[in-house]
Amino acid sequence: MTTCPICGQRDIGKIGADQYYCGDCCVEFMVRNQDLKIFNVEVDGTLTLYDNIMPGTVNLEVQKG
Ligand SMILES: [Zn+2]
Repeated sequence: MTTCPICGQRDIGKIGADQYYCGDCCVEFMVRNQDLKIFNVEVDGTLTLYDNIMPGTVNLEVQKG
């Protein structure tokens, strides 16, 4: 199950093979293997890299041990 990496919302739209959209955050994100890229969707429809992630918000790190 893919959830929004920002708000955790499960009600996200799939817009491509590895691309999803969260209407709550108005972001698109791309998941490929362990690589996650998040983009803001600007009002004119352009995508800008989402660099506003608080440390610890995105839980992608694999716990060791
Ligand atoms: Zn969201």
